[in-house]
Amino acid sequence: MRRAWVVVLVVTLAMAGAVSAQTLSAKWEELTAGDFREALAKAQGTCLLPFGIIEKHGPHMPLGTDLLDVRYVTEHAVLQEYAVIFPAYYFGQIFEAKHEPGTVAYSPETQLKLLQETTDEMARNGCKKVVIVNGHGGNESLLPYFAQTQLAKPHDYVVYVQWGHEATKKVGAEKSGPDWHAGESETSNMLVTNPNLVHMDRAKNESGADQKRLKLPESVYTGIWWYARFPYHYSGDGSAATKEQGEADVQSWINTVVRAIRAIKADDESLKLQNEFYEKSQHPLDTVK
Ligand SMILES: [Zn+2]
Repeated sequence: MRRAWVVVLVVTLAMAGAVSAQTLSAKWEELTAGDFREALAKAQGTCLLPFGIIEKHGPHMPLGTDLLDVRYVTEHAVLQEYAVIFPAYYFGQIFEAKHEPGTVAYSPETQLKLLQETTDEMARNGCKKVVIVNGHGGNESLLPYFAQTQLAKPHDYVVYVQWGHEATKKVGAEKSGPDWHAGESETSNMLVTNPNLVHMDRAKNESGADQKRLKLPESVYTGIWWYARFPYHYSGDGSAATKEQGEADVQSWINTVVRAIRAIKADDESLKLQNEFYEKSQHPLDTVK
């Protein structure tokens, strides 16, 4: 009888332990103020800012595709390597889709100001390593630029920008032409992250083919290039998507983010070098030997 009680007690304590371990969410908005402090310690001051966007994704996928995918990936990555995840963020560069319904395009000034205030607020709350995990191709000029602007004046934290992952082997036959937006790859990923939001029967309602309407050398850049090539804000063929392809790709993406979190947690150099740089920048004439 006594032994039975001990067993019950042990099992009960084990269950309570499991429950309390589960309750320390990685999501900023789900933590209590007290637990937030514990979460920051557990994360060693490392916080993720998954960066999505609200834009058309072909005729068959939701406006929030990039946001939904990058949150799915980060939420799975922190199960392997803990970090605190900032709430939904989608205030990026997306002027090229302003002609399509549902696009939310903030001004250039707001994009930079809001991002700076967001990372400043994260750092004020103890996130001394802010990792922007990018889920949207259109941010690939904005984010390195934002990281560069962190050198303009001193900060007591480091901004890291993470995007991309190792290419996965195509599961099906190799397709011709670009697959850059709402095509086979992105549709395959969505079949894993949010399959109920994909309308495969509509994937061929528009063309994702390259219209090649500009005749300029590769060394010349112009903002209208995307519209010139993909006027329907669709690049590739979503109907070729498979869940198998998506599983391989999403897993590779998660693994890449896990590796990045581990490397960033171990990085003691960036902040040290930043501080050294800020100090020297106060008296540049003294740095000449
Ligand atoms: Zn996308």
